[in-house]
Amino acid sequence: MTSTFNSIKPLRNFITSMTKLVGEVSDEQSLISLTTPLLKALVAKDDWLPEFCSIPNTDFYQQYLLHADPLERFSVVSFVWGPGQKTPIHDHCTWGLIGMLRGSEKAQKYQYDLNGALIADGMEATLKPGDVEAVSPTLGDIHIVSNALPDQTSISIHVYGANIGAVKRHVYEPDTGLVKNFVSGYSSPLVPNLWDRSSEMRSELI
Ligand code: FE
Repeated sequence: MTSTFNSIKPLRNFITSMTKLVGEVSDEQSLISLTTPLLKALVAKDDWLPEFCSIPNTDFYQQYLLHADPLERFSVVSFVWGPGQKTPIHDHCTWGLIGMLRGSEKAQKYQYDLNGALIADGMEATLKPGDVEAVSPTLGDIHIVSNALPDQTSISIHVYGANIGAVKRHVYEPDTGLVKNFVSGYSSPLVPNLWDRSSEMRSELI
């Protein structure tokens, strides 16, 4: 499915609401429960993501920063999955919400068993447009995510409780038990311009 960019306003409104929220609450449970309906509303319509934040790469899934809070209390990222692309098994070291915008993705959580082996935690989830799923150190922070579609790009919008591209995190190799440090960064130096409201203002001119 392709979509036409209409207006950045839904993203700007989401970021305004998130900025207010992180100023009012700071515990993980409240942040997740209060962010969930905001993200659900954001991904309910697919007409606001700027084109340059929706472009897949043939080799790697892309992570386009949409916004980072100046105090790094949250960040919003567009994940773009080419056909067959997937993450390694990884953690986040903060809370996070995944909102499915376009296409479909699969997410499988992992946990350590009593012998210290990394095992699947519950069933694999398949996200469809409009679905929102949470990860966090409390709820289960280790997972693997993949594009569920073999022949199409999928896009999900992620919200994290930190500037996620700059967080020291971990990838896991279940066969060897190896845990490696990583910092994800972002796929582009550009972020969307949220603040050109001139067409809105011009429409109010007499
Ligand atoms: Fe993740």
